[in-house]
Amino acid sequence: MTLLAVYAHPDDEAFGTGGTLARYAAAGVDVRLICATRGESGKITDPAIDPDVDVGMLREAELREACRALGIPEPIFLDYHDSGRYERTRHDDPKALLNVDEFDLEAALRPWIAELRPRVMLTFDPHGAYGHIDHIRIQRAATAAFWSAGGVTDAPPRRLFYNAISTERMRQMQEGRTDGPMARLDPGLYGVSEASFAAVLDVSAWAEAKERAIRAHRSQVGPRSSFAGRAAGEEGWRAFLGHETFTLGGARGAFPEPPVDDLFAGL
Ligand SMILES: [Zn+2]
Repeated sequence: MTLLAVYAHPDDEAFGTGGTLARYAAAGVDVRLICATRGESGKITDPAIDPDVDVGMLREAELREACRALGIPEPIFLDYHDSGRYERTRHDDPKALLNVDEFDLEAALRPWIAELRPRVMLTFDPHGAYGHIDHIRIQRAATAAFWSAGGVTDAPPRRLFYNAISTERMRQMQEGRTDGPMARLDPGLYGVSEASFAAVLDVSAWAEAKERAIRAHRSQVGPRSSFAGRAAGEEGWRAFLGHETFTLGGARGAFPEPPVDDLFAGL
């Protein structure tokens, strides 16, 4: 049984679904991760890291370490480039996801679906967690590939889940925060009602693995990052580590009464 997670950058997997990936790996599921880019445009937020480092190589190594923390195999890179954001947006890079044809991106996923034959797939929600263009691009491609998978395998995936957080949870996460990608978002747009959840997973037993995976992305969670203020004891942090929630992006066949507590429930 295979679970395939499809994301854009190193660290997307840890923050979004690290607990879920660790939980299913521990249960013997073949958990695989596709990462479309090496996060080349990420800011180095740890002053202890050489500012002239090759960011893509560094973040690739960080993702490999995060995968070890989660107990999952080496990631699969699609070799596209991080589009960056704001003043760092790579408008002129043809390999930046921003500039990649969406059908080509879908086509890059299809051979992996044919080879890995996942039962369940995971990706971002349609708003890309916080609107990053790369998240939205990979979300659309993964959704399209979920539906076109019947053309490349006789065992197409049965379920596609999107990472999701509730509007209420998002408001809690925003309280007292003025920086970070989530700070200024409209919870009514980027969050969902709790009734929208198709799966609510208790991953508290894997909170430590998730936290280690997050911290493996050292260049992204350094003292100059918006993450830095979050002490381990902070209220909300344990809840963030311990529960992961999903909406349903697609299903082949019946789906039990939601929310399920197991992505494979009834399969
Ligand atoms: Zn990302």
